[in-house]
Amino acid sequence: MRPARAYIGIGSNLDDPIGQVRRALQALSGILASGCVAQSPLYRTAPVGDPSGQPDYINAVAALDTGLTPQQLLMALQTLELAQGRTRNVRWGARTLDLDLLLYDQLTSDDPRLTLPHPRLHERAFVLYPLCDIAPHLMIPGHGPLTELLARCPPQAIARLDSAD
Ligand code: ATP
Ligand code: CA
Ligand code: CA
Repeated sequence: MRPARAYIGIGSNLDDPIGQVRRALQALSGILASGCVAQSPLYRTAPVGDPSGQPDYINAVAALDTGLTPQQLLMALQTLELAQGRTRNVRWGARTLDLDLLLYDQLTSDDPRLTLPHPRLHERAFVLYPLCDIAPHLMIPGHGPLTELLARCPPQAIARLDSAD
């Protein structure tokens, strides 16, 4: 069977976030029945919204070809989060690793346990910029061309890191 193309949003703002994101990119290639086909540069972004006073985030996006179902893939992502010390205390609080399933082919789902596309993807600069780096022609189901979403995205503090950083 043809594999699905999935896009994963990666974020960290605790315990060496650059190292956490790099480790996550490596770990993604190890997911069962999956292979990493592209990874974006890393970005540094100011935290948006509550809770205030958090450290900056490091963000990136990876593309995976996978034979897993969306639910299996989400479970694999949650296992990697736990392996890198993710705890869930405060909603949207600081974290060592957050892996969001942004897109799974052009599938749509409104299940709160797995909503596709990711419900806040279209308004987040820290997702749209790295996604556009690796898949500029992507169509986001329910929202249209990625490039149009990027053009409409409200200004948010975001800077691409040098690969030497
Ligand atoms: P946000 O969803 O705004 O990015 P968050 O990443 O901090 O916030 P989490 O605490 O990591 O939120 O996840 C909360 C729940 O979201 C998870 O238990 C998961 O079941 C659900 N969820 C729904 N859709 C998705 C998706 N596309 N990718 C990852 N988790 C999802
Ligand atoms: Ca998230
Ligand atoms: Ca998440």
